[in-house]
Amino acid sequence: MRITHVDTALLRVPLQQRTITDSQSTVTHVEFLQVVLRTDQGLTGYGMNWSYTPGLRTAQVAVQENYAPVLLGKDPVFRKQLVRECFFTNHFIGRVGATRVGLAAVEYALWDLACKQANLPLWRYLGACRDRVKAYSTDGGWLSWSESDLVRDCVALVERGFDAVKVKLGRPDPREDLRRIAAVRKAVGPGIDIMTDVNCAWTLATGKQYGSRLHEFDVKWLEEPMKPEDVTMHAELARAIQTPIAVGETLFTREAFRDYIAAGAVHYVQADATKLLGIDEWLEVAALAASYNLPVVPHTNVQHKLHVQLAAATPNCIMVENCYESLHDLWEEPIGVVDGHYQMPEQPGVGLQIRAAAIAAHRIG
Ligand code: MG
Repeated sequence: MRITHVDTALLRVPLQQRTITDSQSTVTHVEFLQVVLRTDQGLTGYGMNWSYTPGLRTAQVAVQENYAPVLLGKDPVFRKQLVRECFFTNHFIGRVGATRVGLAAVEYALWDLACKQANLPLWRYLGACRDRVKAYSTDGGWLSWSESDLVRDCVALVERGFDAVKVKLGRPDPREDLRRIAAVRKAVGPGIDIMTDVNCAWTLATGKQYGSRLHEFDVKWLEEPMKPEDVTMHAELARAIQTPIAVGETLFTREAFRDYIAAGAVHYVQADATKLLGIDEWLEVAALAASYNLPVVPHTNVQHKLHVQLAAATPNCIMVENCYESLHDLWEEPIGVVDGHYQMPEQPGVGLQIRAAAIAAHRIG
């Protein structure tokens, strides 16, 4: 099999729900880059990446100008070699960042071709350890929600069947964060997991003073308390408070995860295949975490179909985040959550093909 065409589409899709915020961002739209690899055997591989800030046009140019010349005429079975060759076309200007994001989309398209050749969905192709994947929801816990909306939406998620919900922290006054967590805990009762997420807004001092009180509300984890570049600071906080630390959505290499894990600075490994260099590197990070007996819970919003399949094939991947539900029907063969568990995709492939109608409606490049 040879790759004959490398096509891309850039989309900007509005969120069909209230404007949502965390401590760093206000999200109204999500950009998608779809990468399509056509072959001389009639199989087509689809990959994608995403961002809720503008900028994927840079990734699109990297795919078109750097990666397409490497891929054209090649056999996709040499995925690892092709990704390595593509990676070094950006050695001096893009070992991480938009170029890596674009290359991850290519990597999924190569995996998609392999799965389709085998006529299996990714999770069956990898070898499964489970046939249903637990979901936890972030859609009720946004920072812009009033306390009463926050409580109402978290209770509604529990009534839908979720037994784990996440609440954003990082209000200007951290005492307000504690009051909001206390209100949610009181409303959902003791049997529900509550996770918290600061999105990097705190200092070490704030983490020690207020993060140390989260265990009073039996919080399952404290996510991204501080800027991700500082492993030492996270290790110090991890030693200082009782609540476990979760990080990963802004770590872009397996070496970054190695440093966090080896330092004891993370307890829940939130590896995101769309931020790492695709599925191969995600599997490496999951195996690394397993060797330290650490659970993996991938950061997820629009890439749930990918992470659900990886979770079904990864024993230490205990659940997958669920949010941006209004975008779930963007995909061919969308999957939903029933009784707190994701439905499994059964079409052969990785499952990242965006519906033609959605591309037509939202294409910007
Ligand atoms: Mg997060």
